[in-house]
Amino acid sequence: MIRSSDDEWTDVEAYDLEFRSAGDEDAWFSVRGLLEGETFLIKFLGFLESSDLRFNAGDFQTLQAVDEFVRRFRPVSAQVQDSECSKIVQGLTVCSSYEFKCDDVRFYDAVVDAVHHEQHSFKKEEECMCTFVLCWKHGPNVGNLTFANIASICLIQSVEQLNSRVASFAKIAKEKIEIASLKSGAISESSLLHHGLQETEPSRQFGSAGRTTEGRVVIQMS
Ligand SMILES: [Zn+2]
Repeated sequence: MIRSSDDEWTDVEAYDLEFRSAGDEDAWFSVRGLLEGETFLIKFLGFLESSDLRFNAGDFQTLQAVDEFVRRFRPVSAQVQDSECSKIVQGLTVCSSYEFKCDDVRFYDAVVDAVHHEQHSFKKEEECMCTFVLCWKHGPNVGNLTFANIASICLIQSVEQLNSRVASFAKIAKEKIEIASLKSGAISESSLLHHGLQETEPSRQFGSAGRTTEGRVVIQMS
């Protein structure tokens, strides 16, 4: 994915979703989700239009695949104010940034393994001096413990209410699968009928053969 220049960082509030990318990247990105007919368009905050992803409702083969797609979205995680550091407690899953190199930051989930509280500084405004030990759940540091400060930690928001555009798209995709399965059901019914006909033919032959030898066989067959 190619980052856009800073002046293209507009309308940040419209990017109200986090999307977990698949494949090698496997990071959370701030995105904007747009439903265009039966296509779901994902635009990545801070990346060029060439990074946009399009998913077609008809591309999903199973209901589970739709559910998995839905699970890749959540509301955008909230930055923690220095005065709110008590919200970051041991055992909590947070979304934290990892800097690959300057200006190339990715977000991954991590569990707070320990919190080392320190006296906050009040030189200018309240500044959290605490250190948080994170155990990473995915990304380049998966399974590793690292130290983090509050600036790199975001609070994951509840997914209680699924984003309406994601929900509408999932509904369309599921309806398509159900229609397709009804159609394939009709096909298998006709193939079953066909198969049944094939089965009756040898029986008839057997029956007719039986008729010449033993009448009772024919009566049993019918
Ligand atoms: Zn603190």
